[in-house]
Amino acid sequence: MRERNAMTSRHVENRDKFWLEEAGRLHWFKEPMVASDVSWDAEDFHIRWYEDGVLNASYQCLDRHLETRGEKTAILWEGDDPSVSEAITYREAHEEVCRMANVLKARGVGKGDRVILYMPMTPEAAYAMLACARIGAVHSVVFGGFSPEALASRIEDCGAVAVITADEARRGGKTVPLKENVDRAIERAGKAGDAVHLVLTVRVTGAKVGFEDGRDLWWHTSRDDVTKECPSEPMAAEDPLFILYTSGSTGKPKGVVHTTGGYMVYASYTHEKIFEVAEDDVYWCTADVGWITGHSYIVYGPLANGVTTLMFEGVPTYPDASRMWEVVDKHKVAQIYTAPTAIRALMREGDGPVKKTSRASLKLLGTVGEPINPEAWRWYHEVVGEGRCPIVDTWWQTETGGVLITPLPSDPMTKPGAATKPMPGIMPALVDNDGNPLDGAAEGNLILTESWPGQARGVWGDQERFIQTYFSTYPGRYFTGDGARRDEGGDYWITGRVDDVLNVSGHRMGTAEIESALVAHPSVAEAAVVGYPHDIKGQGVHCYVILNQGTEPTDALAKTLRGHVREEIGPVATPDRVQLAPGLPKTRSGKIMRRILRKIAEGHPDQLGDTSTLAEPQVVDALIDGAKQFE
Ligand code: ATP
Ligand code: MG
Repeated sequence: MRERNAMTSRHVENRDKFWLEEAGRLHWFKEPMVASDVSWDAEDFHIRWYEDGVLNASYQCLDRHLETRGEKTAILWEGDDPSVSEAITYREAHEEVCRMANVLKARGVGKGDRVILYMPMTPEAAYAMLACARIGAVHSVVFGGFSPEALASRIEDCGAVAVITADEARRGGKTVPLKENVDRAIERAGKAGDAVHLVLTVRVTGAKVGFEDGRDLWWHTSRDDVTKECPSEPMAAEDPLFILYTSGSTGKPKGVVHTTGGYMVYASYTHEKIFEVAEDDVYWCTADVGWITGHSYIVYGPLANGVTTLMFEGVPTYPDASRMWEVVDKHKVAQIYTAPTAIRALMREGDGPVKKTSRASLKLLGTVGEPINPEAWRWYHEVVGEGRCPIVDTWWQTETGGVLITPLPSDPMTKPGAATKPMPGIMPALVDNDGNPLDGAAEGNLILTESWPGQARGVWGDQERFIQTYFSTYPGRYFTGDGARRDEGGDYWITGRVDDVLNVSGHRMGTAEIESALVAHPSVAEAAVVGYPHDIKGQGVHCYVILNQGTEPTDALAKTLRGHVREEIGPVATPDRVQLAPGLPKTRSGKIMRRILRKIAEGHPDQLGDTSTLAEPQVVDALIDGAKQFE
């Protein structure tokens, strides 16, 4: 708390000075003298941070550590197969990245070119990101679980000239044919596909794959044809570093653009303050590099700070539900950063798989991606962390580059489910639907009133959509799309997306609250709540409920759950419908897609919209079927 307060005061005293001092954490080829120049007015829209500074993100993550940390492990890789792992030092990572950068260069890939990465969770994924950054190419990582169609649309959207991939990915004992998917995507992309003149393939499983002469290269052979030195390209702070497509929870994914200087400062700053990683700690973020969390908190933040970052190829439940905690013991992990969806899935398996491990090395637990239900928070805190590890519930978005609202480890941990306070330097606020500021304890729409270095600079190829989506609802302010409640202590509780807020008989309710009440019932593993048109109440409450392993779905239980929510929250929140379901539609990053559930509840299963980022499309059919009982 004390450090948070001191930093916040420094920011209040002189904002430019605060952010220029934070920029000092990086190695700049040319130090910036100007902090920012920002206007969120549609007329004269621009966002610039440290614009006179020159740096390179790859240099930042590798070269600057060579002298003091050359032999320190940069990437600790844990394979899908529990018997396989590998430690890569900063010096070794530097060499691999230089070689990969040289391979790209030799094929004419250079500054400003877009390169798609469609990779398994192997160290080469990080090398590929850093190799692009090294030569000033703009990477766009596409999660390896996406289909050829989804990949094709991203190749087209960003105008890629090269793709870096692997023969196959391993995940949970299964394989995914990455190279084959790339070939199909390039074909599908037509003219945009023809523009791809290099496919660089990493050999992971040794599977036989197609090979197109003149276009395709193997990484394991081409790496020996180039030298291990590659100077890093001096980049202006505002040169783009990467494009990343959002999860698609609310609609068609947006190609969010992040630039070099501000993003790197913000990733480094937040990683240091939130995770407090000591020099000898092993830090583990379980996200995939295909998401923003993987960018900022597996690769750029930790490596910029010289941390040992663990990269995991597999999934938390393979070979069994103990895997995560076994990895913690095997590598003596100190900080673990995961998502509520993983926590709820593991919680469903009971305490046994956790308790048979030691977890003595753990110092801190983090969560990100969705509101965490207090029940899941307590389990994480008490069972996994044995009550001794602070939990950082980090709220942020692809568009924010790094965490904006979170507890810091030294804060008192007394509010399960609250993201609590803004990072020093961040200025959130709540407004009503007309944009009027709400003071003190209040609930409303979450906005940011001031820019920060890690903020996205645009949507690739569609700046209009960027301004329209984020800066037009409340002109001159950044609208997050999320709702929040601020309590008497000034702590923020994220209530979910404002599109998901229910209005039942004139009462506004966040879906998160009802979901948390359901998850708190001993029979319930997971829940998603949406509204549907109701003649009398305006909106009715439709709950999709996943039961715990081994619990029978009966009408009596559905009725009990209805009573349970009524007890916990009050009569206005009483569910009109409880649908016991086999699963929920989720994005590939594990978020519940409520917009699909809403359409089903509304009786419009023919209007589901963009479902390209859905993880298990067959779940949807079962839900449509199950909803017929309410017709
Ligand atoms: P799209 O923008 O395409 O609809 P998305 O919003 O799911 O997809 P992300 O940028 O990955 O894509 O997710 C950001 C959103 O995740 C936030 O706006 C918020 O709704 C939710 N979120 C992230 N972390 C938290 C958290 N700690 N607590 C509550 N909600 C969170
Ligand atoms: Mg979003």
